[in-house]
Amino acid sequence: MDLIIRNARLRHRDDLADIGIAGGRIAAIAPRMTDGAAKELDAAGRLTTPSFVEPHIHLDKALTAERARENPTNVFEESIAIMREVKRAYTVEDVADRATRVIHGLVGYGVTLIRSYVDVDTIVGLRALDGVLAARERCRHLARIELIAFPQEGIWCDPGTDELMRSAVERGADVVGGMPYAEMIERDSDRHIDFAFELARRFDRDVQMHVDETDDPGARTLHAYAVKAIQAGWHGRVTADHATALAAYDDSYAAKVIALVARARMSMVVLPTKLMRGGVRDKEPRRRGLTRVRELLAAGVNVAYGQDVIQDGFLPVFGTGDPLQVGFLLAFGAQFSSRASIETLYDMATVNGARIMRRPDYGLEVGAPADLVVVDAPSVQEAYRTQPPRLAVIHDGRVVARNGRVVEAG
Ligand SMILES: [Zn+2]
Repeated sequence: MDLIIRNARLRHRDDLADIGIAGGRIAAIAPRMTDGAAKELDAAGRLTTPSFVEPHIHLDKALTAERARENPTNVFEESIAIMREVKRAYTVEDVADRATRVIHGLVGYGVTLIRSYVDVDTIVGLRALDGVLAARERCRHLARIELIAFPQEGIWCDPGTDELMRSAVERGADVVGGMPYAEMIERDSDRHIDFAFELARRFDRDVQMHVDETDDPGARTLHAYAVKAIQAGWHGRVTADHATALAAYDDSYAAKVIALVARARMSMVVLPTKLMRGGVRDKEPRRRGLTRVRELLAAGVNVAYGQDVIQDGFLPVFGTGDPLQVGFLLAFGAQFSSRASIETLYDMATVNGARIMRRPDYGLEVGAPADLVVVDAPSVQEAYRTQPPRLAVIHDGRVVARNGRVVEAG
């Protein structure tokens, strides 16, 4: 064994276990392992699970708040305009530095699987992508990172973006992104979705989009996206993020769309930092900016949650990247009050995210990749309640962070 974690408290198991790691994989799990190892780590009865998954973050935008003007109305379209000003000044090095800082932070919180959107449009061209690609290279020993080419400004209302999207995928973006609601008219939203699937088919890629990120009950792009996924045969390779309009639909139309989402085996990502802006045009009571999380889960849809934004023009003050903080927000926003629902919440931050990233061998079992986190809490419930430090984070069988900080020599 290269590493043994002793006295680990695993989920759904009463006794403590030792976890033996060899060659970057989990080699054994036993109540008490008698062999020694080159390195040992005593978890001392603390919660030990597969590492967290961050399925939706914007590494290119993070940590730009200090250069962004204020948005006194907090209206979404104004934040997009603010970020247009900010990203005009991006350099590859600037993006790479900020993204690297955020990745280090995420790893400290126990995240070792990351999917990040990266803006691709006629304002930034491929600079944001090149910056995040450089950060990914610098951090390749810390985490597995996939990038989503993201046409934040729309494709048909920002002419030239279609060519840039193709170039982005050729240059290293792993996933085809989209934002069909950004288009000016529904016909173009449909063409936007069609374009994404053509690109996905040509390069054999998954699709993940920002969908209906609005309180507008007339938004229809989740419906169109799910139907297109079914028609294209892209079942299980599609993810829809936000879909907040779903919460604004009447119940019968919402049920129809959820059934199509389930039929497409489409995953969903809910972003609770959106609580800061949900129902921003409402008087009172305000909508919460969350999709129908509990109904989607009840329909068997794979739902994960993510951070989305960290101190940028969308969320200038808050955001850490800690999945326990984000889950805490979601628990209140979606009213996860029972102990059982808190276990579901932890699944959303781990296994459900891994399913989006299509890592079938992810988990805490023999043969799985040794990507683990030791949380300084005795249980999942206490982890969310107290959001304690992560005592150790393991990636590819090596300790990459201790007590919240990346350690370069594992
Ligand atoms: Zn986002």
